[in-house]
Amino acid sequence: MTVWLAGNADIAIRQLEKHAPELVVLQANIAENWSLCKTIRQHWHPLWVYCLLLESAPSAATLDGRQVLQRQAQRATKAVEMGGDAYLWWPTLRQAGPAPLREDPALSRIMQAHIRSGLQRVQAYRDLSQTNDLLSAIALSDALTELGNRRALDWELPREIVSARKLDQPLSLLILDIDFFKSVNDRHGHLVGDQVLQMVAERLRHNMRFYETPFRYGGEEFVILLKNTGIDEAERVGERLRQLMDNNPFVIDTELDLCLTVSIGVAALKPNDDTEGMALIGRADSSLLAAKATGRNRVVVSSIDPSV
Ligand code: GH3
Ligand code: MG
Ligand code: MG
Repeated sequence: MTVWLAGNADIAIRQLEKHAPELVVLQANIAENWSLCKTIRQHWHPLWVYCLLLESAPSAATLDGRQVLQRQAQRATKAVEMGGDAYLWWPTLRQAGPAPLREDPALSRIMQAHIRSGLQRVQAYRDLSQTNDLLSAIALSDALTELGNRRALDWELPREIVSARKLDQPLSLLILDIDFFKSVNDRHGHLVGDQVLQMVAERLRHNMRFYETPFRYGGEEFVILLKNTGIDEAERVGERLRQLMDNNPFVIDTELDLCLTVSIGVAALKPNDDTEGMALIGRADSSLLAAKATGRNRVVVSSIDPSV
């Protein structure tokens, strides 16, 4: 077990961020440690930590037994209210009083019990949040292509719309659909179809900039979200992707060269669009239909008049 010591709350926060300890012991007779306890519980929770407040018991000379009990109850209540997991009184070495109390093994045992159960609870919590992260990643990821799935887009798009409006930045969206994909399955089988989908996803992944995020929207349809990108730039991105598919045959198991094209619909966010992104997706989808209807292997852009 490694122990880090911190002389004040700022150092403690830095230690927490750096080492993510499982357990924090705070001296409760230092006023700022109560707010530190609250801060840890409310704001610092990337990984949960067990918070133990430890305080010197008041001298028996200044308080009678009943007052000691009352004070202990008040402090323990405050500890819970501030988000502490446990509160303990601890006789100090300097404190007057019978030596046997200071050395009472029951005090060591209660401290050890807190440390043990605290560590177990933190471990259980951290295991659970890891599983949670994993499950979220699985729920939002398409198993075949490993791109974000439709659920991920449904989650991401409203956030990007809100963020684009807040930052007063443009936001565009492409829907890309593989042309005549059914014939790939019909001629070469579903496994080859699956490989093509993986290769399309791979090409998208490797030809995107960090602010361009591809999703598998449906069977052979992909959506690419283009942050801080206006309609003209989005059209250029679409054309780049169209050529990327058209100019590079899909080589399956070194035996099969499949020449495939894609059709792409492009749209940009307008001021009156809904926050869920339905209108934006709807316009990109209409553009995609137009691309299909006018011969496929092309990029069609939705009306660029932002006032419409
Ligand atoms: P269009 O140019 O009009 O888009 O024609 P298309 O054949 O690409 O479109 P259509 O909607 O007729 O067919 C889409 C096909 O995509 C049908 C479906 O079996 C196939 N598909 C959807 N998901 C998967 C998948 O996960 N794996 C495979 N192999 N095929 C899939
Ligand atoms: Mg389709
Ligand atoms: Mg298709």
